[in-house]
Amino acid sequence: SIKGQYGKYFAVYDDKLRNELLKDQAITDSMEDALAKEQFLVYLQPKYRIKDENLVGAEALVRWIHPELGFQPPDKFIPLFEKNGFITKLDQYVWDKTCALIKEWDDRGFTPISVSVNVSRADIYNADLADILIKIINKYGLAPSRLHLEITESAYTENPKQIIDTVTHLRELGFIIEMDDFGSGYSSLNMLNEMPIDILKLDMKFIQNETAKPNSQGILQFIIDLARWMHVSVVAEGVETKDQLSRLSEIGCDYVQGYYFARPLPKLEFEKLLSADSRKDAESELDDVCEI
Ligand code: C2E
Ligand code: MG
Ligand code: MG
Ligand code: MG
Repeated sequence: SIKGQYGKYFAVYDDKLRNELLKDQAITDSMEDALAKEQFLVYLQPKYRIKDENLVGAEALVRWIHPELGFQPPDKFIPLFEKNGFITKLDQYVWDKTCALIKEWDDRGFTPISVSVNVSRADIYNADLADILIKIINKYGLAPSRLHLEITESAYTENPKQIIDTVTHLRELGFIIEMDDFGSGYSSLNMLNEMPIDILKLDMKFIQNETAKPNSQGILQFIIDLARWMHVSVVAEGVETKDQLSRLSEIGCDYVQGYYFARPLPKLEFEKLLSADSRKDAESELDDVCEI
């Protein structure tokens, strides 16, 4: 009967929903323990300067190696942590681990890089944000400019006044501010003009749709020209092909991040690129000496 069919439909739906809730519950139950047991790992995605293709930095991206559920990418737990408030704690952990890495690489003599960390919208509303960041920076004896703070575009549109105040203060302290996912939301050019930022991070969809839409190259060119006029540099993320890279190069984009160069990598893999980069510098210095 029809009733029977609907009954079945709802049973299936209920099961699916229940499983999702159980999974969410399992994640919530184990998050504190996971943090204590260091199951959260900081992966690093290299960032390159387009002009000379030199490695200049990285973005820290968290992963969870869950004992039962296995490798978990951020979209499996970040939205949940944003709802239950745990994101604030996790972010502070990621910032601390990231600064520890920067310090370690400095001590080992690698070419100094800066690393970008993600700042959740919940962190913005934490009155202690600046103090917490300064404490971490001081713990490792780093200049604040070694840490770039990525704040997603949609956070700027929610509460512009509060964001402007917070970000202005963080910049005064020396942190570098990046607007993440630019072009994904509803920000106006006017808002862009009012926002105290150092770096604009173009949203991935922008880059990846680019070949499909005829006006995209022109729009990107316009944004990059505007950014230059505002003394803001531009990072493109989600660059997967050589074609995308050369288009970005043509219009004067400064930096790239994307699978074309490298995926987010575990510490040891990333360090291979760091040492390779310092060797490259050492070699070119050697070349210079040889030419003389
Ligand atoms: P996001 O900050 O915009 O980070 C960029 C995302 O794009 C990363 O996904 C990265 O792996 C991915 N990506 C980079 N290059 C390419 C490419 O060429 N092609 C494609 N298809 N993807 C690329 P991931 O690591 O899964 O992170 C997703 C989001 O989770 C991040 O987006 C960020 O909003 C959030 N997230 C990650 N780590 C943290 C964290 O420690 N704290 C907070 N609050 N959020 C985080
Ligand atoms: Mg980001
Ligand atoms: Mg983001
Ligand atoms: Mg982004």
